[in-house]
Amino acid sequence: MKKLFKLFYKYYLSPRPEVSPVKQDDFEMYVENFNFEKYRKNIFAFQNKFSIEAVKTIEYKNEVFEIFKIETRNKQAKKKLLVFAAVHGNEFATALVIPIFLADISSNPDFYREWQIRIISPINPVGLKCQSRYNKDGYDINRDFKKFETEDSKLQCNEIDVFKPDMLISLHEHPFKGFMFLCNDKVSRLLQKKILNKLKEKNILLCRTPFIVKIPGTKAGVMRIGVLLKVFRFIFGIYTLERYASKKNIENITSESYWNERDIEKRIFPHMLVLRSVVSDYGK
Ligand SMILES: [Zn+2]
Repeated sequence: MKKLFKLFYKYYLSPRPEVSPVKQDDFEMYVENFNFEKYRKNIFAFQNKFSIEAVKTIEYKNEVFEIFKIETRNKQAKKKLLVFAAVHGNEFATALVIPIFLADISSNPDFYREWQIRIISPINPVGLKCQSRYNKDGYDINRDFKKFETEDSKLQCNEIDVFKPDMLISLHEHPFKGFMFLCNDKVSRLLQKKILNKLKEKNILLCRTPFIVKIPGTKAGVMRIGVLLKVFRFIFGIYTLERYASKKNIENITSESYWNERDIEKRIFPHMLVLRSVVSDYGK
């Protein structure tokens, strides 16, 4: 019980569980070394189609890390999508979704034409390098949306406030077997259903028991942040990106792949299905 509470504190409550980007060993996780040079190359390969810049650099142990901002040039588009990847650095597959997403946008301009899309990745490059959930100072960025002690949470807020997306998608991974996505209560139930159907059509293994226990009334693969979870996070004082988005009245989806899956494609693919479903099904 004491161990469980410690884990709960570390993963849900504490905005700063460590003082440095330590590797996590509480759960089984399959992580690969991240090749930053290759990543940069893969992103900039699309520079004739997108606006790409390093929106921020972080220095850690004499190395400079870049956070990229990538945007479609589709400024006339009416709908705006903002995507954050690799907020938790050890969830490395989420960063790898981005070049694949860019390739898909490039080769299917018609499919994406109604959307202006802005992507920030990796939000936490130092964590990505160190295979750590935390940033260079040991913060869990996704618990820092109250006091905003990290530059990283401020960066995300700033992007939200300036870009004013219709939809915000944050890519994550989790220790629970199978894929799932969490919707805040701004997301329509119809869209939620359509995304779930797309995942089922492709036979994606869906997560049944997130948070260790099965929550009554929840379906496999999807969780809605309704009254119960709101009360829960209010009582415990949990301040996530989703909470910030909800306060700003912005629709938010957090998609979560299974981080112990060895086949990285299987971790990437369902995130792509969520992104594509939002693009084709939003508001319809
Ligand atoms: Zn995460």
